[in-house]
Amino acid sequence: MKNEERGFTTTVLSVACGKSDPHGALNVPVYQTAAYEFASAEAMESAFTGRTPDHAYSRITNPTVEHFEESVRQATGALSVTALNSGMAAISNLFLTLGRSGANVVTSPHLFGNTYSLLASTLREFGVETRFADMTDPAAVAAAIDSETCAVFLETITNPQMEVADLSALAAVCQAAGTPLVADTTIVPFHAFHARDFGIDLEVVSSTKYLSGGATSLGGLLIDYGRFDWSRNPKLARSAETYGVQPHEAFTAKLRREIHRNLGAYMTPQVAYQQMLGLETLEVRYARVSQTTLEVAQALSSGEFRGIVSVNYPGLPSNRFHAVATRQFGTAPGAMLTFDLASQAACYAFMNRLRLIRRATNLFDNKSLAIHPWSTIFGTFSEEARRSMDISPCTIRLSVGLEDAADLQSDIRQALS
Ligand SMILES: *Cc1c(COP(=O)(O)O)cnc(C)c1O
Repeated sequence: MKNEERGFTTTVLSVACGKSDPHGALNVPVYQTAAYEFASAEAMESAFTGRTPDHAYSRITNPTVEHFEESVRQATGALSVTALNSGMAAISNLFLTLGRSGANVVTSPHLFGNTYSLLASTLREFGVETRFADMTDPAAVAAAIDSETCAVFLETITNPQMEVADLSALAAVCQAAGTPLVADTTIVPFHAFHARDFGIDLEVVSSTKYLSGGATSLGGLLIDYGRFDWSRNPKLARSAETYGVQPHEAFTAKLRREIHRNLGAYMTPQVAYQQMLGLETLEVRYARVSQTTLEVAQALSSGEFRGIVSVNYPGLPSNRFHAVATRQFGTAPGAMLTFDLASQAACYAFMNRLRLIRRATNLFDNKSLAIHPWSTIFGTFSEEARRSMDISPCTIRLSVGLEDAADLQSDIRQALS
């Protein structure tokens, strides 16, 4: 359980490794091995049948990855944390654990592009239905839920629309309907946004973003708060019986003992080491980048930047989600903002004139990144599909890094001229 006495970073820095290192290494060693040796056939049997917690094969567990998982678990107070080799691997593992043919997922059309495609195309072909509803309208979400709904899923700040739903209101709807509330919380990390306090049952994170400590590696986390009674999900109710666990442990049992082994997308030890270093400095880096983002958003919306039609950042008092975002994420909600220019041509001209800010996808690198989502991330969707997702050809997305706010503003100013 979460250590209530200590702060987030203190907790992260004080998690002990599961087994002691013979050299007393202060950083977790990178156990770069596929398999592990056993002293006897009996010890092997115990490990393989789950009677002892030994490592057997690194697709299933690895000491370095386990240390990273345990550090996140202690810092978030979760029941279990599973580290995967990308955000999409975490999201795939999530839906393949929860769903089954005939079930449905209630979600927003405002989703990360690959998540949208996973639900609307990939899982649809396996008989999982996706129902799109407006997450800012709890009554519409309630109306979309039925007895076959296996989850209500949303992103805490949608990208690039920057929509923010009222999570407590959605949690109340989910609780009344007996449906788990599942959130992709990538845009505001878990030290700054306590998902469990807002009624979220399962959290997925692309740790490629803030956690990796500067775009060092791809990764994903699946965090189970152990608050949902899975006897309400027929598939997981059976799994609780199979594995002989309590109803609230059924998701983790199904995930760790079946789905994640079968999908083979576990995080690798070198990546877990890099992301462990990222976790140690997460709070410090986030404080800087989120503050810079607020400062840049204020400057861009001041009217002094020629050509900027509108700025979208929930930290601005004029933003339609300001009150709910401040309540949930604090006064500087994340290091992503968008702004609109007059046309797609104006966006291309702006992108091509940037000198400091890099033209790249990804979010929350140490370097600031700009992208034109309409022509890139969503470039293979039909124009109609893009409009239905509220993607505009006039929008630039900016991910703010560790540079000085004044330098970012001067690059934007010169690129607009
Ligand atoms: C990047 C991202 C993902 C996918 O993560 P990968 O690590 O690239 O697989 C999912 N959701 C959100 C909100 C993201 O920003």
